[in-house]
Amino acid sequence: MTLSGRGGLKRIAVDMDEVLADALGELIRRYNAEFGEQLTKRDLDGHWMWDAVPPSRHGSLAAYLHSPDFFTDLDVIPDSQRVLARLNSIAEVFVATAAMEFPNSFTPKFRWLERHFPFLSPRRFVFCGDKSILHADYLIDDMPGHFDHFMGKGLLFTSPHNTRASSRRDNYVRMDDWLAVEQYFFGK
Ligand SMILES: [Mg+2]
Repeated sequence: MTLSGRGGLKRIAVDMDEVLADALGELIRRYNAEFGEQLTKRDLDGHWMWDAVPPSRHGSLAAYLHSPDFFTDLDVIPDSQRVLARLNSIAEVFVATAAMEFPNSFTPKFRWLERHFPFLSPRRFVFCGDKSILHADYLIDDMPGHFDHFMGKGLLFTSPHNTRASSRRDNYVRMDDWLAVEQYFFGK
């Protein structure tokens, strides 16, 4: 798939957590610090963090996510800035992120996007719950369920929890990293 940018700009919606921002990395960092563990993303292959830790510690995971500073200093997913800047020159790029589950996350997420993706207009930041409201040609997201009612083409961004997901309805294609996204839109 190659976008020309001519004959009408395509619209690309991009998820934030696990696609642009490494929220899972921060969750693991806090968990390891509190419990003296050495959990890595590799250990989570095919699982959610919640499935990989004892139920007695689930309360701590929820507390990390609800803490006011959790979303403040998340690492940037490799190559996302460069590839998104490139996409932004040929398409309308929107960042669509769910903030409703964690109301504390709204302001930190907004500031994080301004800091790390200054080339994107804040007018294209979409804080939403149900992503089926999105009207776009593509959605890049780590949650396969978001593609079920999405009108455009889904690009599943690989994350430990979705490594075993497969597209039964053929409504998405998998992207292992941002270099794969770059190749998908621009070719070699
Ligand atoms: Mg996500």
